[in-house]
Amino acid sequence: MRSLTLAEARERSSLITVTSYAVELDLDQGAEVFGSRTVVRFACAEPGADSWVDLKARSVETVSLNGAPLDPASAADGRLALTGLAADNELVVAATMAYSHDGQGLHRATDPADDLDYVYGHLFLDAAPSVYACFDQPDLKAPYDVTVHAPLDWTVLGNGAAEQTSPGTWTLATTKPLATYFMTVCAGPYVSVRDEHDGIPLGVHARASLREPLERHAAELFDVTKRSFDYFHGLFGIRYPFGEYHQVFVPEFNAGAMENPGCVTFRDQYLYRGAATRDELLTRANTVSHEMSHMWFGDIVTMKWWDDLWLNESFAEYMSHRCLVDATEYTDAWVDSSIVRKVWGYGAERSPSTHPVAGVEALDAQSALQNFDGISYAKGAATLRQLIAYVGDDQFIAGVRAYLTDKSYGNGTLADFLGAIETASGKDLEAWSRGWLLTADRDTISVEIEEQDGLVERAVMNRQSPPDRPADRPHAFDVAGWTDGRELGRVRATITAPETTLAELEGTPEPAVLVPNASDLTWARVRLSDSTVAALPTQLAQIPDGQARAVVWSSLIDGVHGATTSPEAFLEVFDAAWPHETNSSILTRVAAYAEHRVVPYFVPRDQQEAALARLNRAGVGLLERATAGTTESLAAARLVAGTSDDETLLRAWADGKGLPAGLEEDGDFRWIVVRNLASRGLIDVADIDGFRAKDDTLQGGLNALLCRASLPRAEAKAWAWEQLTGRQGRSNYEMVHLARGFWAASDDALVADYVPRYFTDVPAMSAWVGEDALSRVVLVAFPRVFTDETARLSAEAISRDDLTPAVHRSLVDADAELREALASRATFAAAV
Ligand SMILES: [Zn+2]
Repeated sequence: MRSLTLAEARERSSLITVTSYAVELDLDQGAEVFGSRTVVRFACAEPGADSWVDLKARSVETVSLNGAPLDPASAADGRLALTGLAADNELVVAATMAYSHDGQGLHRATDPADDLDYVYGHLFLDAAPSVYACFDQPDLKAPYDVTVHAPLDWTVLGNGAAEQTSPGTWTLATTKPLATYFMTVCAGPYVSVRDEHDGIPLGVHARASLREPLERHAAELFDVTKRSFDYFHGLFGIRYPFGEYHQVFVPEFNAGAMENPGCVTFRDQYLYRGAATRDELLTRANTVSHEMSHMWFGDIVTMKWWDDLWLNESFAEYMSHRCLVDATEYTDAWVDSSIVRKVWGYGAERSPSTHPVAGVEALDAQSALQNFDGISYAKGAATLRQLIAYVGDDQFIAGVRAYLTDKSYGNGTLADFLGAIETASGKDLEAWSRGWLLTADRDTISVEIEEQDGLVERAVMNRQSPPDRPADRPHAFDVAGWTDGRELGRVRATITAPETTLAELEGTPEPAVLVPNASDLTWARVRLSDSTVAALPTQLAQIPDGQARAVVWSSLIDGVHGATTSPEAFLEVFDAAWPHETNSSILTRVAAYAEHRVVPYFVPRDQQEAALARLNRAGVGLLERATAGTTESLAAARLVAGTSDDETLLRAWADGKGLPAGLEEDGDFRWIVVRNLASRGLIDVADIDGFRAKDDTLQGGLNALLCRASLPRAEAKAWAWEQLTGRQGRSNYEMVHLARGFWAASDDALVADYVPRYFTDVPAMSAWVGEDALSRVVLVAFPRVFTDETARLSAEAISRDDLTPAVHRSLVDADAELREALASRATFAAAV
C-alpha cells in the first residue's frame, strides 16, 4: 500500500481544510470485520480541484460526495479519488473494515482466560484509514463525533466521554480538533476503576481477567496521574482540555503506550500480575506521566509533519522524568533514565542507522517510523537538558508556554519551537542547534590526570568529536571522584574546546575512581580511565551516589559493545559490585543486561556456562542476604531462576516448592524457571502444556510458546519456525515470543540451518505483518549464531532492494549488534 509522501501532504493541506468528522463504527458484526461509516465535512481552497481521501477497507459499500454517488470500486491502493471538489464538501463513505492482529489499526484479541474479546484502536502512524475514511496526515486536524454499536455486554471508551444512549449504542462527546492518528475506540467487556481529580473524571480499565491487578494497582496509578496533572497544569499554564482522562490497559500492544487525547492506551503487562520491583513501578509511573505530557505537546500542538516526531518524543521523555523527580516519590527517575533509556539511546547512536535528533527528512509516513527510536527519545531528552543549561530553565519554560499557547489546536515545527525559545531567552540558537540537533553521533569525553604525591597536579577534560561527523557541541556537566566511598572533588564545567583544564581539581587528593558526567547531564561517550576501571571492583559499590554508579555501568556497557571493555572486566565488576547495589533500576537492569546481552553476545560459546554460573553465584548470595519481598530479593530470585543449572532447585520452584517468600503465587516468576528448564532440555512439550494449564491466560499462552520454541530439539525448532514464519495467523505478541525462544540452543548445529532461512523467510513476512510489529520481529528473531557466515548473509540481505523500510532498518540494527559481538570476541578471544 502506498505511503503518503511529504510532497503530497503539503499539497493536500494547502488545498483542504477539514471541518469535522462523524464516524460510526459497528463492532457487532463478529470477530473478523466491523462496519465503518464516515461523514467528512471539508473545505477546498480551489473549487473544481481534485484530491483524495485515505481508505484501507476490506470492501467499500457506498460513497457519495456532496450527495452524488461515487463508484466504490474506484478505491484502490489505500486511496479514494475525489474529483471536482466544491468550496464546501460533504463526503460519506460506508465500508467494511478488517480487525487487525498485529497491534496496528483496530486490534482484536481473545482472552484465553475467559474467551472474551477486546478491541482497541491504535491508529499511529498511518493506520487510521483502516478504521475510517480520512485525510490521514498530522496537520489536517478536526473535531470528531463518534458513535459505536457494540455487543450488549461491552463497554466503550474513546477520545470523548462515552454515553450509552440505547442498548449497545454509545455516543462519544464531540472532541477538540484532533490529528487523525489520535482517534481511538476501546471496546469490550473491560472492567473499570473510576476516580476524579480537579474536575477531571478519571478511569483505569483492563480486561475482565485482570480485574484483581487492576484494582490492586489503581490507587498508585491514580496517584501518579493526579500528581502529573497538577505538575503539568502548573508548568504549562494551560488546563488539560480533553474532558475525561481514561487509561486503558489493552492486550498485545506493540509500544509502551499511546497518547490518544482523553483515552491513553497502555500495554497491559504494566498491570503486574505478580511481584513488581520498584523500578518496574517507576517505569510505569514514567509512562503515565510521559503520555500525559503529550496531551500538551503532541495533542494540543501537533507536529506539522513526521520529521518533527522528535519534538513530541524528546519533550515527553524529558518532561516525564522531570515530573517524577519534582512531584512523585520516584526522585531517582534520572538514574533510571541513565541505565535504561540512555543505554538504549547509546545503542542507537552506535548503529550505522543513527541520525540527527531533528531535521531528518521523512519523505513519507512509513520512513518516519524508522526514526521512532532511542535517538528521538533518549538523546532528544538529553539534548533538551543541554538546551536548558544553555538558555536557563525559566527561559525554556517561558518559551514552551508561548509555543503551546501560540499553536494551540494547530501544528508546530522545529523552527516554531526554537523561535519561541530564542524569543524567551534572547539567545541565538542557530549554532547550538546545528551541533546538538542537526548533526548525528556524539562526542567522547574523558579526563586526564597528572598526579604528584597523591594529589592532582593537573586535570584536563578532553572532548573529541567524531572525525567523520565533526560538530561543535557545548557540554554542561560535572566531574566527580571518589576513594573508598568518600567524594574527593566535584567540578561543574561547561566545555566547548577540545581540551579544558579543570583547575578546581588541582591540589585535591587523586581519587581512585573519577567519573566524567557524574550527574549524567550530557550526551556523550564517557571514557573511564584505565586506573578507574581497574579500581571499580573494590570501589564502585562504595560510591554513595547512585546517579554516578549508573553512569559507570552505562560506560562499561558502552565499552563492552565497543570492544574497549572486555566481558571479563565487566563480569569482575559485576561479581564485586552488583550484589551490593541499592538502586533498584541499576540492580535489575544490570542483571538483565549481564544475563541476556553480555553473556550470550560477547562471551564465547564454550565459556558461557561458566559465565552464567558466576552470575548465578552473585544472585544466590544476594538472595540469601536480602529481605524477603524487597526489590533486592526479587531481582536476585529472577537472576537465579534464569541462570541456575541446578535441576533439583529449578524443578522444585517450577512445582511451587521452596520458593523465595512472596513468589509462591507468582505465575510470571514460574515461567522464568520453566523457560530455563525448557532451554536446557529438561522438560518436554507435555510438561509445558501442564504449566500452561496452570496459567491459562494470555500471558501464560505467550510464555508457553516461548518455552516450546526454546526446547533444544530439532522438531521443536521446526515447529516454532513454521509457527513464526509460516503465516499461521499468529498475533504480534505470539510472533515475538516464538522468536525470543527460538535461538536458545546449547549447540549452534541445532539452529544453523535457520540462519540462511531467516534472511529469506522473515523479510517475506511483510506480506502479512504490519511494519511496526514486523520491525520488532526482525530484531528479536535475528540469528544468535555469531559467526562470519551469519555476518556475510546479513550484509547480503541488507543490500537487497526489495526490503520494506522497517525490515531494512531492523536488519541494519541487528547486524550492527552482531558485528559488535564478533569484534569483541576477536579482541578478547582468550581473555575470559
Ligand atoms: Zn511518547
